[in-house]
Amino acid sequence: MELRLYDTLSREKRTFVPLNADNVRMYVCGPTVYDFAHIGNARPVIVFDVLFRLLRHIYGDAHVKYVRNITDVDDKINDRAARDFPGLPLNEAIRKVTEQTGKQFHADVDALGALRPSVEPRATEHIGEMREIIEKLVAGGFAYVAEDHVLFSPQAMNAANSALPRYGTLSKRSLDEMIAGARVDVAPYKRDATDFVLWKPSKPGEPSWPSPSGIKAEGRPGWHIECSAMAWKHLGEHFDIHGGGIDLVFPHHENEVAQTCCAFHRERMANYWMHNGFLQVESEKMSKSLGNFITIHELLADWPGEVLRLNMLKTHYRSPIDWTMKSLEESAKTLDGWYEFIGESAPAIQVDPIFTQALADDLNTPSAIARLHQISHPPIVGSTFELGVSTLGDWTTEAPAYLKSSANLVGLLVPTASQRKKESIAAAGVDTTIIEMLVAARAQARKEKDFASSDRIRDELATLGVVLKDGKDAAGNPITTWEIAR
Ligand code: AMP
Ligand code: ZN
Repeated sequence: MELRLYDTLSREKRTFVPLNADNVRMYVCGPTVYDFAHIGNARPVIVFDVLFRLLRHIYGDAHVKYVRNITDVDDKINDRAARDFPGLPLNEAIRKVTEQTGKQFHADVDALGALRPSVEPRATEHIGEMREIIEKLVAGGFAYVAEDHVLFSPQAMNAANSALPRYGTLSKRSLDEMIAGARVDVAPYKRDATDFVLWKPSKPGEPSWPSPSGIKAEGRPGWHIECSAMAWKHLGEHFDIHGGGIDLVFPHHENEVAQTCCAFHRERMANYWMHNGFLQVESEKMSKSLGNFITIHELLADWPGEVLRLNMLKTHYRSPIDWTMKSLEESAKTLDGWYEFIGESAPAIQVDPIFTQALADDLNTPSAIARLHQISHPPIVGSTFELGVSTLGDWTTEAPAYLKSSANLVGLLVPTASQRKKESIAAAGVDTTIIEMLVAARAQARKEKDFASSDRIRDELATLGVVLKDGKDAAGNPITTWEIAR
């Protein structure tokens, strides 16, 4: 299958050719964890999860490496830590904040049906790599130390007589124009207005690490260097795909390219740069001051994660998306219809080729979803309904399975573990209360070492199709979980 992806750098759709088909590598800028993530943050998570799944489908699960970082050094994190844990030393308070918000983020994106990336590096665990890159940049004449800061010089980069890319190429900005338009109140330690921070001194009480050579005082990294370091550590100097929201093209990604290419004398950092469009709510920019700021967590209280996922995928990832209540209601209805249609069907072995072709055309999810609609609607009597390569003999029995396996490819119609449990219970016609009572009675019998009774109850449950699993909880006490045998 030919996969075509729109590349922000070349401004065109190009056929995707991995550097190494046995190890396809993708990096996506992750969240800064200082609060609940908002629904806009869910967009890159879902979009690049679909791409991750598609790459795994094409190249094999073991041959795709997806890295999405967690930014855990940031002023907003420091502020929140000082506010929420005023009694604790700042470093400890920061750890508490990032632990908590990191967990919230995972719970949210798990509920959206996103696979966990292969690696989720944290910025604070890669300070050594950041220092190493910074020292290479200083040694190469691309960066300089001034007043305990290290600054990158885009002008030094563009003056270099080498195969390096020009600064400004990714965001299509000219350095001359940036220089001309630079603000007058430039920090005094900068040689040029366009220079950006790689490393800066920490204020008293702020988290700090040993600085790159040439600076005695401890300090902390700038934001852009974090991603260059984590991508290098986990994917190497040059990899296949780099993604994030469109707001990151400048300056974040432009600066990542500058740092990585200059440190490693590379022409490229990533071969394909992909950016999702922005999300707005009910036709307005989402912002706290407008009162239309919605977190994933809040939405999950009212909607299954799958509804949010489908709602996101109805719009092509590069277009702006208008997040509306009406559209959410429609997405919920669509999913209900699909669930009814697939019933108890087993997944088909094959995924619909027209569906995958749509995805392979720069992740055209609206067209892929239109195809799912087509599969879920009975053909007009007498017409032949082409389901991919074969015309189905018996549409009624085959189409539901086809719908299920195709939707599964993009993480839809994949019931969560608890849904599955509920479904199988319902299908088995078993009353949960009775099972729980029997499980408790057996636990009591075991406690009293009445093994004859406990075995009898186990057998009784087995006749209801319930399988027991005995284990221990965190405190070492025996616990029993149960499920319906499939
Ligand atoms: P942040 O935590 O703000 O750095 O954002 C994490 C990711 O979410 C980045 O890839 C951003 O580009 C993306 N993002 C933030 N806000 C929105 C939005 N309203 N719509 C789409 N993507 C967004
Ligand atoms: Zn980044």
